[in-house]
Amino acid sequence: MKYVLVTGGVVSGLGKGVTASSIGVVLKACGLRVTSVKIDPYLNTDAGTMSPFEHGRYLCWTMVDLDLGNYERFLDIKLTRDNNITTGKIYQSVIDKERRGDYLGKTVQVVPHITDAIQEWIERVSMIPVDGKEDPVDVCVIELGGTIGDIESMPFIEALGQFSYRVGPGNFCLVHVSLVPVLNVVGEQKTKPTQHSVRGLRGLGLTPNILACRSTKPLDDNVKEKLSQFCHVPVANVITLYDVSNIWHIPLLLRDQKAHEAILRELNLMGVVGEPMLDEWTERAKICDTLLEPVRIAMVGKYTGLSDSYISVLKALLHASIYCRRKLVVEWVPSADLEDTTAMELPDAHETAWNALRGADGILVPGGFGDRGVLGKILAAKYARENNIPFLGICLGMQIAVIEYARSVLGLKDANSTEFDPNTKNPCVIPMPEGSKTIMGGTMRLGSRRTYFQDGGCKSVKLYGNVGHVDERHRHRYEVNPDMITKLESAGLSFVGKDETGRRMEVLELPTHPYFIGAQFHPEFRSRPGRPSALFLGLIAASCGQLDGLLRDPPRHLHGMATANRGTQSAPRSPFSTAAST
Ligand code: GLN
Repeated sequence: MKYVLVTGGVVSGLGKGVTASSIGVVLKACGLRVTSVKIDPYLNTDAGTMSPFEHGRYLCWTMVDLDLGNYERFLDIKLTRDNNITTGKIYQSVIDKERRGDYLGKTVQVVPHITDAIQEWIERVSMIPVDGKEDPVDVCVIELGGTIGDIESMPFIEALGQFSYRVGPGNFCLVHVSLVPVLNVVGEQKTKPTQHSVRGLRGLGLTPNILACRSTKPLDDNVKEKLSQFCHVPVANVITLYDVSNIWHIPLLLRDQKAHEAILRELNLMGVVGEPMLDEWTERAKICDTLLEPVRIAMVGKYTGLSDSYISVLKALLHASIYCRRKLVVEWVPSADLEDTTAMELPDAHETAWNALRGADGILVPGGFGDRGVLGKILAAKYARENNIPFLGICLGMQIAVIEYARSVLGLKDANSTEFDPNTKNPCVIPMPEGSKTIMGGTMRLGSRRTYFQDGGCKSVKLYGNVGHVDERHRHRYEVNPDMITKLESAGLSFVGKDETGRRMEVLELPTHPYFIGAQFHPEFRSRPGRPSALFLGLIAASCGQLDGLLRDPPRHLHGMATANRGTQSAPRSPFSTAAST
């Protein structure tokens, strides 16, 4: 097993995660099998259980998504929650061991106990195959969160220093991501911050092999030489990550500057693997730069000020838009602004929200928790349904579509989810029986579950490539009330996907509508750059008039992603090129 450690210096927000994922992409494109570990030096033991109720669970869960989602999308792999290490998790494991008496009553200390636990964790997790194969992968990319010098990351730095010594030269490569600012009008590229940051790194016992410098423009040769001299890194190992027009360029940027050769040299893999095959990435980067015709999607959510919370949904929309050769324009619509009360209190906000909704080619209501803005989401679903606007409702988005249908079509004015109105006389969304109503933690229905399609002719089946079932990821506590199904179905709403019992609704469609689909699962998590998620693809295609063609000639390769394919290298037919590289 070989390790590539990615650290960050000077400032946060340099795109360390994207750099680390892109390094993984280039190594994978050379023929290596790659996994990843993300270290977050904060105390929470599990991002999924951070302030579970009071502070809005949605943000908490998306933190997991943010941390590992980029690796999953870029490397086309499926990681576990253990691939994310936090200070809290490490301390918890050491304290648990101490309580069990494993340390035989000895004094338990940061060094060696915490540092050992970190190393053991990394080693254990890096051995887990992530691409559906049996044997361990070849390379593990470790991203250390935070910036060198942070108090929080000290035990990790110490552990990684020991680790690099233990695995030995030829098995460990340190890439330090740094910033080269341009200060004056002449545009001089300043190396001092990087020098300081490397000095800090060395002082802590780590020696960088490669410098990845963020800068607006490519670094001048003399700047590279200076960095090489002061930081003791060969000039060939000084890479510039200059500003690019889209994210797909970053692996190409690394390849063009021969970063893979520098890494392979450090890992003693030169000559063992081939040249990186990045045709698909090259094609996608190019396509993305030339897209002009927009497709406008209104994203009707709660935390619309924080686009990071919806990062997977955004990426899934992007993957689908590129497939349809459209430039994605997302209109953020804060759902509460659509409500009548806002019209009174903040008429401008109300008008802006409705204008954005009316100007959209398609409407998406993503998942969420808590009742703020729910009415606005219901109004958005109603608008989409009545005006034949393509609509995709995910998780809560599907639940509100059911509530809307019950209210408007069945005439049940107080129809609601018991999440929002525990006393409603017409509960059309209710807690799942297996969940506990009193113990809130850990009662979610989580992870990959199977959905069986009921109707071979429906749109979602076709989009998934005419399959009988799909496995998609879940994260919910409530479900559509099984006792309301007959009523809803006789009024025209069709539940086309159900779980194995047939009592849990997974996918709904409105057959009379051009594209009105709701999914209890989260299809966004399985979307990949070259293989958009079926339901997102349907939404985008419907929003730009391509759905009929798509349904006539269903994209069979999407099926692989949604079911058995967990990121094997035998990539299915790509819309971009014949040479599949991811
Ligand atoms: N709040 C809803 C539930 O718990 C929806 C969750 C979600 O959108 N992820 O079922």
